[in-house]
Amino acid sequence: MKIVVADDSKMWRTILKDFLSKNGHDVVTVEDGLQAYSKIYEISADALISDVVMPGLNGYQLCRILKKDPNLKDMPIILLTGSTDTVDRFWSMYSGTDAYIEKSSRNALENVEKMLEKFNWENKIAPRNGKEMFATLLDELLTETTLRAETRELSNHVEDMDYTVQKIRNLLKSIFNVESIAILIISMSEMLLYSSSKEPKYMEKALLSEMKRPYFPPSHTYKTLAGKEDFSNLQRICNVISYDGREEGVVALWREKEFSLREKALLSIICEELGGIFKIGIQMNDYRKDAYYDDLTGIANFRAIEEHLEKLWKAGKDFELSIIDIDHFKKVNDTYGHEVGNEVLAGLGKMLKEFSEKNDTFVGRFGGEEFLLISEKVHFLTDALEEFRQKVKETHFSKSVPELTITVSAGVAMRDDLKSFTETIEYADKWLYEAKKGGRNMVRSYESFG
Ligand code: GH3
Ligand code: MG
Ligand code: MG
Repeated sequence: MKIVVADDSKMWRTILKDFLSKNGHDVVTVEDGLQAYSKIYEISADALISDVVMPGLNGYQLCRILKKDPNLKDMPIILLTGSTDTVDRFWSMYSGTDAYIEKSSRNALENVEKMLEKFNWENKIAPRNGKEMFATLLDELLTETTLRAETRELSNHVEDMDYTVQKIRNLLKSIFNVESIAILIISMSEMLLYSSSKEPKYMEKALLSEMKRPYFPPSHTYKTLAGKEDFSNLQRICNVISYDGREEGVVALWREKEFSLREKALLSIICEELGGIFKIGIQMNDYRKDAYYDDLTGIANFRAIEEHLEKLWKAGKDFELSIIDIDHFKKVNDTYGHEVGNEVLAGLGKMLKEFSEKNDTFVGRFGGEEFLLISEKVHFLTDALEEFRQKVKETHFSKSVPELTITVSAGVAMRDDLKSFTETIEYADKWLYEAKKGGRNMVRSYESFG
């Protein structure tokens, strides 16, 4: 076998060379890890026997670097060490070495020979310029390190998925010079697709087919990314993003020029780093859903209402606000039970949601049997709610008690020159009280007289 022996001790170089040459091997000796690296490529070595503690590149580092080269990953590496430290043993295992022999052990040399015979590997790659190989390697390691660092930077605003995806897009665009990018993110509560495609449903299907498992999240959200809309004549690479073995999404890139193997490897490095970022982003997304939505009705909860109002208030926007309260709801519970009460609440929540979608207002459950509507259109809610109130009166909410109907009362206030949104709520509550006092089943508003 052609063997490179690396050791900074002249004595050991001599001992090993004599012993191995006698056994019929071709032996080249070097004094440090860097020289060893070059020599291995220059002579197409079949094995490396290396000391651990050497100047420059040490034995572990040398071993790890060599094992990264797919052409050399099966080349036997035997680490010889003067140390009997268990930490050294750990590092040698971590480095991927094939054998670890203590110089002080009784049959050290015989064991080296035994190992060589056991592996008996032959290097079939033609000799190459070792120094150039090292330069390329350094360049690749540097690219990889830089890329990982750049990608990790993206985690700074992971709570804002739109922003993070925009940053990912910019990074991918600058590295690969691509025309289009699509990113699919799968969470427990939704499937989120960012793409420039005009047919997001089709795109979603294509990306889903890249994943090992089928996924059926309850809702789909499609968001547009800038980029080419037509992909038909473009080359594509894509990579599944996963973390801890769990799939989280897919990234796909398109451009005219073919992608190289190296580029595919770079994308997979980026995706490795994105795994952690996506994991946090997805969790936050799901937590937010839990934290901002009311379980029973599926509409915004008190916290979400507060945040919405705070935003409106800060932006200086005019708005109308209404509190809607079910009349004698306690009686519904007392007469038909809590479950029927819940049915009514869920049904009214659904009705309010539909009202909201149709009229572009914000709706939330304020608490108990009280709901809140916010409209940025002013002089709107009083009349719209009057119509809504009449519709509620005729709606049957419970399957088990078909004859049951309810009525609601509502109070409407306007931001106007009030001091805070809390004050707006207080005014709406005052008008609601007027409606209750007036006999219920009515809308009272800052626009009502009397
Ligand atoms: P008013 O017309 O004056 O508003 O009378 P009301 O009975 O509707 O008002 P009150 O505030 O006295 O009672 C509200 C009831 O709403 C009492 C409470 O048990 C019930 N409630 C609050 N939250 C829920 C819920 O999540 N599910 C059910 N089933 N009932 C609830
Ligand atoms: Mg009530
Ligand atoms: Mg009440």
